[in-house]
Amino acid sequence: MNIEQTKVKIKCSVSGCNNQSNYTIVNKKFVFDGNFYLCEGCLKNLYSMLGGVLVPKSPTPVYKKRSKDE
Ligand SMILES: [Zn+2]
Repeated sequence: MNIEQTKVKIKCSVSGCNNQSNYTIVNKKFVFDGNFYLCEGCLKNLYSMLGGVLVPKSPTPVYKKRSKDE
């Protein structure tokens, strides 16, 4: 899967978005068929969405595991 600048005049693939796409996600072996077009705004939305999913959660603090017998 690759991302490149859109070279053709085509609308953003996100439903409800009527912007002209700026970026194309090019894929040959992926779940959806063909290319996926994204405008700048939707690309940023996608990026922040991915960031929310990919940022690891902070581990459980060790002090919470301490028992009374210390
Ligand atoms: Zn869009």
